[in-house]
Amino acid sequence: MPLLVMKFGGTSVADLARIRNAAQKVRAEVERGYDVIVIVSAMSGKTNELVGWVNETSPLYDAREYDAVVSSGENVTAGLMALTLQEMDIPARSWQGWQVPIQTTSAHGAARFVDIPRTNLDAKFAEGFKVAVIAGFQGVSAEGRITTLGRGGSDTTAVAFAAAFEAERCDIYTDVDGIYTTDPRITSKARKLDKISFEEMLELASLGAKVLQTRSVELAMRYKVRLRVLSSFDDTDETSGTLVCDEDEIMESKVVSGVAYSREEAKLTLVTVEDRPGIAAAIFGPLSDAGVNVDMIVQNISEKDQSSDRPVTDMTFSCPVDQVARARKALEAARDAGQISYEMLEVDEDAAKVSVVGIGMRSHAGVAARMFRALAEEGVNIKVIATSEIKISVLIDRKYMELAVQALHDAFELDKAG
Ligand code: ASP
Ligand code: MG
Repeated sequence: MPLLVMKFGGTSVADLARIRNAAQKVRAEVERGYDVIVIVSAMSGKTNELVGWVNETSPLYDAREYDAVVSSGENVTAGLMALTLQEMDIPARSWQGWQVPIQTTSAHGAARFVDIPRTNLDAKFAEGFKVAVIAGFQGVSAEGRITTLGRGGSDTTAVAFAAAFEAERCDIYTDVDGIYTTDPRITSKARKLDKISFEEMLELASLGAKVLQTRSVELAMRYKVRLRVLSSFDDTDETSGTLVCDEDEIMESKVVSGVAYSREEAKLTLVTVEDRPGIAAAIFGPLSDAGVNVDMIVQNISEKDQSSDRPVTDMTFSCPVDQVARARKALEAARDAGQISYEMLEVDEDAAKVSVVGIGMRSHAGVAARMFRALAEEGVNIKVIATSEIKISVLIDRKYMELAVQALHDAFELDKAG
């Protein structure tokens, strides 16, 4: 039997009517001849409520009990989904993580998959069951305790099952109808993509296009799981949504596929740090230990310090705005401990990052020039630039973010199909 994985996010199973709607989509695939593994999230808002309860009960909670509580939302929707399918005369059974068993590490709250043995589910399908409904986001540790995978983890559960069971495809049903060239709330010219490569999706996901958990895309890329993102609220068929796939499957692609942004960025500059071997490690080591996600880094050209005649430089980096306090503390601690010295820490909390992403950049020159020209024509000043093989990012004033996204979307003609 060909096998499909279908994952339903929180809004798609938010109440009994929506669970019924999702079950109808499962039934359609069973009628097309598929065995189906369904992965469900908790009803929308449920996990937040559970996390709130844990924090209120015990601020310094025991992570094992956190997982015992927050994993429960998915148990409810898995059972209800199996019941709903049975009411439609479809042989279905629900499975909690430990019953499969979904073996994970014991990093509670952020567990990773170790193995998903097929034996139990294969035996059930062999008995004539058509659907296995799996509680997403959870697993079991070697110690036999329930674990969870980190927020948004059901996407990763879905991809892991698709890989383990060699599914034809992994369909992620959500509340948007696909992946867009940019956020449609910023420009109405945003266009839904039919296909996008794993690598591009990874860049877009990590840049704040929050449709898929980043880890799920990494896993899909590693095991070449074809992922489809589509809406559970639309009438859908084989061609709906956006397929996230290997770049070999994408015949013709534009140089740039999408424009991503991240609104809440800060730019920090350490003024007058010594320019000596090991200085970058001395600065960014403590930041990393403090859990600061440093993104762009620029080291200025070095000059001679007037008084000591030793070479000095300025070091600029960006991080999310809500990590500025932590960054400042880590840097001050490193200075007090004599590991680094600097004259001043300049902080600009009004920045945003805008990026253009596309695998076509690997083989086309001139993308950066086109990007900078488009921003210049709008009078947008660039504070920091960073590039990778398939991405160019700029840090700009937050107040120009929308304007920059619109200008770049126009400049690369993303409203037109490739
Ligand atoms: N319910 C979990 C969360 O909200 C996992 C998921 O839905 O993917 O993070
Ligand atoms: Mg999600």
